[in-house]
Amino acid sequence: MPIGYQERPLVPLDVGDRAILRPDQLSGILAALRGRGYTLLGPTVRDAAIIYAEIAGADDLPVGWTDVQSPGSYRLAARPDGAFFGYSVGPHSWKATFHRPEITLWQAERQGDGGFTIHEPAPETSRVALIGVRACELAAIRIQDRVLLDGPFADPHYAARRRDVFVVAVNCTEPGDTCFCASMGTGPGVESGFDLALTEFVTDTEHLFLAEIGSGAGAEVLAEWPVDRATHGQIAAAAARTQAAAQRMGRSVDTRDVKEVLARNLENPRWEETAARCLGCTNCTQVCPTCFCTAVHDLTDLSGRTATRVRQWDSCFDRSFSYVHGGSVRRSGMSRYRQWLTHKMSFWADEFGSLGCVGCGRCITWCPKGIDITAEIAAIRAADPS
Ligand code: SF4
Ligand code: SF4
Repeated sequence: MPIGYQERPLVPLDVGDRAILRPDQLSGILAALRGRGYTLLGPTVRDAAIIYAEIAGADDLPVGWTDVQSPGSYRLAARPDGAFFGYSVGPHSWKATFHRPEITLWQAERQGDGGFTIHEPAPETSRVALIGVRACELAAIRIQDRVLLDGPFADPHYAARRRDVFVVAVNCTEPGDTCFCASMGTGPGVESGFDLALTEFVTDTEHLFLAEIGSGAGAEVLAEWPVDRATHGQIAAAAARTQAAAQRMGRSVDTRDVKEVLARNLENPRWEETAARCLGCTNCTQVCPTCFCTAVHDLTDLSGRTATRVRQWDSCFDRSFSYVHGGSVRRSGMSRYRQWLTHKMSFWADEFGSLGCVGCGRCITWCPKGIDITAEIAAIRAADPS
């Protein structure tokens, strides 16, 4: 059903207001953000996937592409309607923008007199506009904020990168087969944490976006354009698209007392069965937008003049991750798989006050063995004796 566009005189819009945009106006808004000094980071097609990278504007978005996902499988497919955001989520998450895969903590340089100097790089700041952020991804950012920013030991590198961020979110209307955010309460509709939130409409006759203003910065950017204020009918149509997406979601998790169910089933034979399939490749933790674990390594050059201490993403699937004096604590694949899942879906709640999974489905899609966290939880629940 067409929702209609009619340009009206410029009227002041405020937080909570909604406007209707044409694609050329959205392009203009992205250009305006660049004009304000933001680096645009958004979805783009590269290496046969939709990834997040710096984009120059709307022309770099994955226009006319969608993704087809299932356990252990991801491929792009053309879509004829020219949608800008007609896909679910790819292998990248915004985690890499704020919690960098590798940072240098300090570097030591030997001096001629036998001593050495230490150079500690200042945390890098950035002014970034994230384009096309999904509800599950906003939930993941909130979780990482709680871990890396809001606790007693804030990470200065993460804090510097989170300081100046403009978020253009997108309500999800194309859930993937591996998505289950609706059951986790993290999507598909965007509720907070954005400056502008878009719902895309593409039909045979029109291509429009309903834009909700989430902040004063969002209102300021939109104020530069003679946009059409959305009607009640258009707002209801946008909400219906997101609700329909929730109904079409490929998977779900029963989160009722999942924390307790997993905690009392640590000896369930299912852990061994799944571990027998698991390759320990760490893909699931690398693509997960909430996993935050790191390891610190010391490197020296061949001349012995410099030594560098770096911090890199690590994974609890790696045997060395739990290494302490005398060996690794988690020696079996079973203990490592169980650690990952029970941390996400059980013990995380005690540490951070929420579950550690936002239902994005990446770990299912990018697991080469197609191990499905939703199926694993269901199997443990089914075998729960209580
Ligand atoms: S555990 Fe899997 S589904 Fe949950 S947030 Fe991480 S990658 Fe997404
Ligand atoms: S992606 Fe799959 S195979 Fe690889 S470590 Fe994770 S669960 Fe195991």
